[in-house]
Amino acid sequence: MKTPLFTFVFLLAVTTVFAQNDSLLQSIKIKIPTPAGKTLLMEEVEIPMVSSGDKAIQKQADIKSEFWETTVYNPYRYTPIDFPFQITFDDSTYASPVKHEKVITSRYGWRRGRPHKGIDIDLVTGDSVVSMFDGIVRFAKYSSGHGRTVVVRHYNGLETTYAHLSKIAVKANDSVSKGQFIGKGGNTGKSTGSHLHLSTTYKGAFIHPEYLFNFDDSNSIRSKNLWVTRKWTRASYHSSRRMSKLALYETKEDALASLEKQRKIYVVKKGDTLSRISRRNNTSIASICRTNKIKKSSTLRIGQKLILEL
Ligand SMILES: [Zn+2]
Repeated sequence: MKTPLFTFVFLLAVTTVFAQNDSLLQSIKIKIPTPAGKTLLMEEVEIPMVSSGDKAIQKQADIKSEFWETTVYNPYRYTPIDFPFQITFDDSTYASPVKHEKVITSRYGWRRGRPHKGIDIDLVTGDSVVSMFDGIVRFAKYSSGHGRTVVVRHYNGLETTYAHLSKIAVKANDSVSKGQFIGKGGNTGKSTGSHLHLSTTYKGAFIHPEYLFNFDDSNSIRSKNLWVTRKWTRASYHSSRRMSKLALYETKEDALASLEKQRKIYVVKKGDTLSRISRRNNTSIASICRTNKIKKSSTLRIGQKLILEL
């Protein structure tokens, strides 16, 4: 007759689970009857709980754990980053920041003697601008040059910046979901004509947005797993007027191999100077000196081999 009694006591025990606030639920305590000789002892057992809510809280805590500043546009400042570095995406598409077709008026690259570290998408003042992915608003205020600006940090560490807005509809520390309205497009800050200046950064390093995303109507991410080389962060390697040749590195090996290909051996010819070599090979004197461990004033010998980083 012990079994039915045991079952009854057990069910009774389970129904006396402590009621606790769900969001703070770390564990539950239940009383389980344990046979001890001829009698049953009620023993309290603690069971840890992991709810989906905890994971969301954990994810938010993770991206806010480092360099979380809501009043500074780039809290990473000059923190160095090792190349190549990896960015992963859970999604295969992004939410288009504008609702209409994306007409790119200026690309990531060198523009009028200065770096343009974002992509300009045409819009009309008042057009809705939405967050490309889930994330948390890190910065939502006026910033010199960028005008009214929203920066969202996403759960993979990528930050997207939406600049020159006419209206900001979110505030710092707000959670936003993919496709959520964050403001209206405009022409604030250093801007001529209404457009969205969109930039993508990872731990403070600007990345050519077209390396990450296809800006056509597929709204696709180029790969769920990307390796970023220095080339995809430097505006000087690209032109704001032309689309760059978009190589894609999905493994660290590919990214490293691409660096090898960017190096070339140059044999010094009669009449060569560092200035002439740099001009003709589209590289800088500083880069030639650095790679070859020579000084700007070093004399070149005919037949000398130089490594050029292109
Ligand atoms: Zn721009």
